[in-house]
Amino acid sequence: MSNKRDYYDVLGVSKSSDEKEIKKAYRKIALKYHPDRNPDDKEAEEKFKEAAEAYEILSDPDKRSRYDQFGHQGVSGAAGGGGGFGGMNMDDIFDQFGDIFGGAFGGGSRGGFGGGRGQRVARGSDLRIKIKLTLKEVATGVKKKIKVNKLVNAEGVTYNTCSTCKGQGRVIRVTQTMLGAMQTQSTCQTCRGTGKIISKRPSGVDAQGLKRQEETVEINIPAGVEDGMQLKVGGKGNAGPFDGVPGDLLVVIEEEKNDTLQRDGSNLHFEAYVSFVDAALGNSMEVPLVEGRAKIKIEPGTQSGKMLRLKGKGLPSVHGYGTGDLFVHINVWTPKKLSSDEKDILEKLGESDNFKPKPGKKEQGFFSKMKDFFAG
Ligand SMILES: [Zn+2]
Repeated sequence: MSNKRDYYDVLGVSKSSDEKEIKKAYRKIALKYHPDRNPDDKEAEEKFKEAAEAYEILSDPDKRSRYDQFGHQGVSGAAGGGGGFGGMNMDDIFDQFGDIFGGAFGGGSRGGFGGGRGQRVARGSDLRIKIKLTLKEVATGVKKKIKVNKLVNAEGVTYNTCSTCKGQGRVIRVTQTMLGAMQTQSTCQTCRGTGKIISKRPSGVDAQGLKRQEETVEINIPAGVEDGMQLKVGGKGNAGPFDGVPGDLLVVIEEEKNDTLQRDGSNLHFEAYVSFVDAALGNSMEVPLVEGRAKIKIEPGTQSGKMLRLKGKGLPSVHGYGTGDLFVHINVWTPKKLSSDEKDILEKLGESDNFKPKPGKKEQGFFSKMKDFFAG
């Protein structure tokens, strides 16, 4: 899996090259190793496919940035699941990038293909599922085994070569025009271009040779994912019709709400309440973490609105940019009802000049506090 070459090396471009340079480099390589120029040359075909794969990733800004960050791992789903272009055959490459050859090979993108190359491999549809994660699972990353109800290739199905196209997947129609006979090629409607038709199928199997079945799929969810994110598991979607290649499984992340810790990107926030006695005298208290608890110190004379930062106690970034922090917001709790004894004491305290608010420079508002945190 990891003996893949670097995509930039494959195309012979630098990491900073722009879209135009990448396209140009790909075109050059693709034309050099084009199957029409290198008939029956396996090595050229591999080079041709390798370049197409590199181009598929580097020409897409989104995939390119993922590749820059995570290497082949980051885009393995996109390129047919680890096995390189596994499911992608030559036709797919021409479907996707045919325009790049810009008529260099005459009649249409597939014009050059003869013989068995005309067949298409049908691709199964993508499946989408939702996965609910707790904050703890988000923090650590998690392996999930999920039961997926999907279309699979049924056993006991036998195929015959399509008689309409004789297995070519394409039919050539000749029409007479004023300029003479014109040949047009189109996908065979009988077999939908697969070159095969089903000769026998057990009951419960549909006309495409598929049946519905529950299958357990293991999904690796990296740490730090966020609500609404979509992960792609290559090749785990519905099986392809007529023994084709499977689609992808798209996993949508759903975050379970956490009652105590609020998430903001990779940072977490906790609202802590302390009595005004503790705020005045000082004390210590426990705050919840994603896992376990931490003891924090309440300094004597703590004001409501004070914020404490527990470094690295937030969530890891999914892109690998380190770990966020946990911010503890101190709220001083005022009792809502007082007994007459308590009233007496407080009224006495209230006469003390020391109990009159005298906000100084240190008692700033929320925004200047935030600024202080990030400036230091
Ligand atoms: Zn056919």
